Amino acid sequence: MGENFTHNEFSPEELERLDKQYIWHPFTQMKDWLRDTPLIIASGEGSYLIDVQGRRYLDGVSSLWVTVHGHRRAEIDQAIKEQLDRISHSTFLGLTHVNAIKLGQKLVESVSPDGNSSQKLAKVFYSDNGSTAVEVALKMAFQYWQQRQQCHPTKTRFISLVNGYHGDTIGSVSVGGVDLFHKIYHPLLFETIKVKAPYCYRCPWNQSYPACASKGIDQADCVQEMAETIQLYRGKVAAIVMEPLIQAAGGMLIFPPGYTHRVRELAAQHHILFIADEVATGFGRTGALFACHLEGVEPDIMSIAKGLTGGYLPLAATLTTQDVFDAFSAEYSEKKTFFHGHTYTANPLACAAALANLDIFRREGTVDRLQDKIAYLKEGLLHFQALKHVGDIRQLGFMVGIELVRNTDTKEAYPYEDKIGIKVIQEARRMGLIIRPLDNVIVLMPPLSVSKVELGRMLDITFDSIKKVTE
Ligand SMILES: *Cc1c(COP(=O)(O)O)cnc(C)c1O
Repeated sequence: MGENFTHNEFSPEELERLDKQYIWHPFTQMKDWLRDTPLIIASGEGSYLIDVQGRRYLDGVSSLWVTVHGHRRAEIDQAIKEQLDRISHSTFLGLTHVNAIKLGQKLVESVSPDGNSSQKLAKVFYSDNGSTAVEVALKMAFQYWQQRQQCHPTKTRFISLVNGYHGDTIGSVSVGGVDLFHKIYHPLLFETIKVKAPYCYRCPWNQSYPACASKGIDQADCVQEMAETIQLYRGKVAAIVMEPLIQAAGGMLIFPPGYTHRVRELAAQHHILFIADEVATGFGRTGALFACHLEGVEPDIMSIAKGLTGGYLPLAATLTTQDVFDAFSAEYSEKKTFFHGHTYTANPLACAAALANLDIFRREGTVDRLQDKIAYLKEGLLHFQALKHVGDIRQLGFMVGIELVRNTDTKEAYPYEDKIGIKVIQEARRMGLIIRPLDNVIVLMPPLSVSKVELGRMLDITFDSIKKVTE
C-alpha cells in the first residue's frame, strides 16, 4: 500500500498546490479551504479512506451518504470491470440496454416488496443524481394533472416542508426549505407552499412528543397544520413532496411516528400526488430497504439516488405508478411525451454497479444483518447524553444527528460563526475519523458494512471530539 499510486508523479505538496490553484469545492467556503491543509484521498478499503501519505481514516459519513457495502467491494468492482469490457455508455434516448432493463425490474420489485396494489410503483425513469431525480418527479407531477384523462389544469402548486432538502438545482431548491442554502435564490425560484415540519426537539408549536399525540398522531399540531394547508389550497395542489420519516440535510430531523403515513393519507384523500424523496433514506439507511416501508407508505412517485450504486457511480431514478405513467401515454401528435432526459441517463457502468449492489443486499441479507448494528449504535449513543453540550441525539437506523447547543437547559444554539460543528469534525479527523457536520449537528452515517469494532471506534472518536471542543 502506498507505492502504487497512479498519481505518483505528483507529491502531496504539489497536489495541494494544484488543488488550491484550480479547484472550487462544493458547499465549501474556499477562503477557509485555502488556509487549511486539504486531505487528499488516494484510495479506499471497506470502511476506510486512505490519503496520499498512506494514513487511514474511518469513513463516518459513507462519502456523503452513498457507500453501502464499503469501498472496493469485490463484487461491485468486478461488475463494473465486466461491463467495461462490453460498453461504457450508449444512449437511453431511443435505445435501451441490458443492465438498465434488469435493474428496472429489480428496483420495482424492491420498492414494493409485497406489491399487488394497483397503486404500486411500476415504472422507472433514470437520471444521474438526487437533484435530477427530484426535478423529474416535480415535472412529472405537474404535467400529470395537465394532461391526464380528467385533466385538472388548476393543480399546479407544490406543498413542501420547512427544513426539507431535495437537491441544488433550481426546481429542487424551490421545494427546499433550508434557509442557509436556499434563501439567496428566492427570486429565482417558483413559489411553493411551505408547511412547518415537525422538529420535535424545537417543536414549532411548543408541544412535546408523545404528549402531543396522546389522542393519536392526527391530533398533533404538525399533522393539523398539514391538513389545514391542504384544505386551504384545495384543488390547486399537484403534489406534496417530502423526505419520508427523516429530514436528512435539514439536520437529521426525525418525524414523529405516523406523520409520514398520515400525510400520505391526506394527500390521497385530496387527490394530491405524494412524492417521496428517498434519495438519502433509500438502500437500507433507515434500517429498512426504503424508509417508506417502515410506515407502509406507498408513494405515487419516488426519487432515489445516493445508495443506488452502492456509492460507486452517479445514477438516480424516479419511480412512478402506472397511473402517473398513463397520463403521458398518447398519440405522438398529442405531444404528451415527457420531454426530459439527461445525456448520461441510465449509464451502463452505473447500472452494473447498482445491480451488483442490490445483489449483495439480497444475498447477504444486509438489512436483516444491520439490525444488530443499529441496536449497538443506539446503545453507544446513550452516554453522549452526559456531554454538557449535547442537546439532542437523533437516530433512525444508520442515520445519526447529534445536535450541539450552547446551553442544554435553554436549548440556545451555537452561533453560526462559532463553526462548532466544523471544529468537532476537524478534531475527529486528527483522530482518524472523517465526518461532516450539518451546521451544529454532528452527523454519523457509517457504511452499512461497518464492523462493530469500527462502529465503536467511530463513536469513541466522535465522543472525544465533542468533549474536547465543547468542554
Ligand atoms: C442528497 C439529497 C438530494 C440531492 O442529491 P444530489 O445527488 O446531491 O443531487 C436530494 N434529496 C435528498 C433527500 C438528499 O439527501
